Amino acid sequence: MESTLAARLLGIRNRLAAAARRAGRADADIRLIAVSKGHSQAEVEAMITAGQSCFGENRVQEAEAKFAALQQRNELELHLIGPLQSNKAKQAVLLFDVIHTVDRPSLIEALAKAMQATGRKPRLFVEVNIGREPQKAGVLPEALEPLLRLAGERGLHIEGLMAIPPADQPPEPCFRELAAHARQHGLRELSMGMSADFESAIACGATYIRVGTALFGSRI
Ligand SMILES: *Cc1c(COP(=O)(O)O)cnc(C)c1O
Repeated sequence: MESTLAARLLGIRNRLAAAARRAGRADADIRLIAVSKGHSQAEVEAMITAGQSCFGENRVQEAEAKFAALQQRNELELHLIGPLQSNKAKQAVLLFDVIHTVDRPSLIEALAKAMQATGRKPRLFVEVNIGREPQKAGVLPEALEPLLRLAGERGLHIEGLMAIPPADQPPEPCFRELAAHARQHGLRELSMGMSADFESAIACGATYIRVGTALFGSRI
């Protein structure tokens, strides 16, 4: 298992660097989040041994079970990339270094309270429902500006935007639109691109790519 994961990690890092080069960007400006949802703590540990320190999880509880007890926890950077319920805001603020899925006023209020109560300040991204899909999380593009304003009023510093483009269409137009929103609001970070499309996300300006299957294999 260890050598397979190490080889896959090297392969993805090489593809990241090549995509950065093609886009005329420095590969150090693009961070790889290894998405370990559906995979075991042992697999995470093997990935750490292979040199990866940045991980992403979808659910607070699964992440807690897997990461809270890890010896190396302090050297890791843990990203929440799945929807967050307001009643788990405190747990999330205690566990995660970066939360990518801020998408509604009630969650901003809950996060502000949790950050005050815990003294922790995870970095925050707003998730945008760029394809306007009714079943998907994320703020609609037209509601982004008021949400960012509310975050500012509550003392939350939003660093960037995150999106998952619709599965049934080419992702580039969505990536470009997300990048345009980030530029318009002066936000530096762009969390976009997964196993199937991270190279085009890099071409469109991604600063964080979220790769699961291509690193860990298929989820059970
Ligand atoms: C699962 C997931 C990923 C990783 O997807 P892969 O296709 O396995 O690379 C990335 N982002 C989010 C939000 C996810 O839920």
